[in-house]
Amino acid sequence: MARVYNFSAGPAMLPESVLSQARDEMLEWQGSGMCVAEMSHRGKEFMSIAAQAEADLRELLAIPANYKVLFLQGGASSQFAMIPMNLLRGAEGADYLNTGSWSKKAIAEARHYGSVNVAASTEAVKFTRAPAQDELKLSADAAYVHYTPNETIEGVEFPYVPETNGKPLVADMSSTLLSRPVDVSRFGLIYAGAQKNIGPAGLTIVIVREDLIGQPVQGTPTMFDYKIHADNESMYNTPPTYAWYLAGLVFKWLKDMGGLEAMAAVNARKAKRLYDVIDASGFYANPVDPIARSWMNVPFTLANADLDDLFLKEAKAVGLTTLKGHRSVGGMRASIYNAMPEAGVEALVSFMQEFERKNG
Ligand SMILES: *Cc1c(COP(=O)(O)O)cnc(C)c1O
Repeated sequence: MARVYNFSAGPAMLPESVLSQARDEMLEWQGSGMCVAEMSHRGKEFMSIAAQAEADLRELLAIPANYKVLFLQGGASSQFAMIPMNLLRGAEGADYLNTGSWSKKAIAEARHYGSVNVAASTEAVKFTRAPAQDELKLSADAAYVHYTPNETIEGVEFPYVPETNGKPLVADMSSTLLSRPVDVSRFGLIYAGAQKNIGPAGLTIVIVREDLIGQPVQGTPTMFDYKIHADNESMYNTPPTYAWYLAGLVFKWLKDMGGLEAMAAVNARKAKRLYDVIDASGFYANPVDPIARSWMNVPFTLANADLDDLFLKEAKAVGLTTLKGHRSVGGMRASIYNAMPEAGVEALVSFMQEFERKNG
């Protein structure tokens, strides 16, 4: 067996020890006589798995008691609709920051439910920087302010948490949650599809301040009402049980690694190593403002795009896979989430330097 270093933006790598544990527990979970995927979500075994995962996530992020943690389905993309449906609460609209491809999708969806004030946009510079606090044109009557702390496609990450004058701040943390500590109390709602930095696809985490839910717009489907999920501990219907279990193993792994402070140190190091090599070369380039460069997704181009296919082919041959950039940006993208070991980044930079030497 030869596991590769998989630089996919998502679904992405999972920690090897998590996969090994899942393998060991595949046929029988802890004397239960069955696989977790075969368990009733209402049985005591799965209820304990679910509760432990939530407790570990709460501990990792120091989530205050007045926040609900929901384990949902539908991906971050469903949240683009669920958020306005639940959080507009009679207001005309909300403020959105337009900082990349995922922001744009969130904005387009929100427009079905209310008016969107684009409080800042970096589209004119092809989303290569984050807007500064003093550029944000927040409106007085917005129900909330939505932004995307890490734009997975463009590789842009906010170096600060926006100040919103008391308005609930809503954040799509799909590709950054758990990569570093975050002060949850500064947010009204945080959401993330799991397949980037949390676990397998099929699970969506929502962390929401209790007082914001319970007044969905009329006609909201039951499954799109946060309050229903909160009141039923995310078991109103059958939750994504196996994905929830695997995410729980990832939370345990993060605790074993020393928690999010420790992960932040490793992630900062991995990102710096890669950007330093890119910046030091005349062959590779990353267009993002250095203060807003993502720790998780590192897009880069080669001096000659005709070499892209050769780069990808030779990288794959040495076990470095899924480096092709998003079609909208081109070039390469290395996603280096928590589960990407430092050795994987080392292998990538060695390969890049060798490739440059041969072809630069
Ligand atoms: C991947 C991603 C999404 C979409 O997630 P789905 O789970 O596929 O719906 C949304 N926002 C961001 C920032 C992402 O990285």
